[in-house]
Amino acid sequence: MAFNTAEAADQLLGEGDIPPVHEVNAEGTSPFLLTSDHYGRILPRALGDLGISESELSRHIGWDIGIAGVAERMANMLNAHLIAQRYSRLVIDCNRPPGVASSIPVMSETTAIPRNEGISESERAARRREIFDPYHHRIGAVIDSRLRDERPTVLVSLHSFTPHYAGVARPWHIGALYNRDTVLPKLLLQHLRSEGDLVVGDNEPYAASDLTDYTIPVHGEARGLLNTGIEIRQDLIADQSGQQRWAERLARIFAAIEMELKPGLLAR
Ligand SMILES: [Zn+2]
Repeated sequence: MAFNTAEAADQLLGEGDIPPVHEVNAEGTSPFLLTSDHYGRILPRALGDLGISESELSRHIGWDIGIAGVAERMANMLNAHLIAQRYSRLVIDCNRPPGVASSIPVMSETTAIPRNEGISESERAARRREIFDPYHHRIGAVIDSRLRDERPTVLVSLHSFTPHYAGVARPWHIGALYNRDTVLPKLLLQHLRSEGDLVVGDNEPYAASDLTDYTIPVHGEARGLLNTGIEIRQDLIADQSGQQRWAERLARIFAAIEMELKPGLLAR
């Protein structure tokens, strides 16, 4: 393969590849800044099919099924800025610290990713430089600019999770994921529970942490923003009507939360 030469390995995205960062409502007036690390599942042309089948790529290991449709709708309903990443998490996971094993996985759940095995440092660096960095630099720049303009900014990181993992069924419909924020996740959990028809995960199906996450610790916690992660079960948002229902529900809840947050907190 051409990737054996240093010059070729220096570049990942080329002609015919689209930029990694996708944005909706960049001028949105909502305090909520929405992010979607696992929004898309496209592959750079240079990586072929990563050595896996289309059916594997379209499973949850390739992206967060259904979240794109929820995120787009929420951005429009709330008039909120959404920043999303279009390439598959199997190319580089935008919610992992670069360098950890799951950043560029050679195995995801039980599926081997042959094209990720034994890659050079230079290819690793290219994936970071051309996909991970532009996405996170954009989020960082948007937060900088909002804070400079003294615009209230609350980070909401949107994800979806597989109904079964390693053979175990997951009962939750939705979960709030957090680590250090003691304000927003608590409010969100209260609202979700008072819906009455939901099995709500409190840091389930997993908790946010510095080692297993990137967006919340780096853009939420380190910047001192109110923040939460949200995980929606994928079978509930697999089609457009599910995405619409969940976006409506969450937009209604976040509109209520905005009213409840003290102005002092919103202005952080
Ligand atoms: Zn995700």
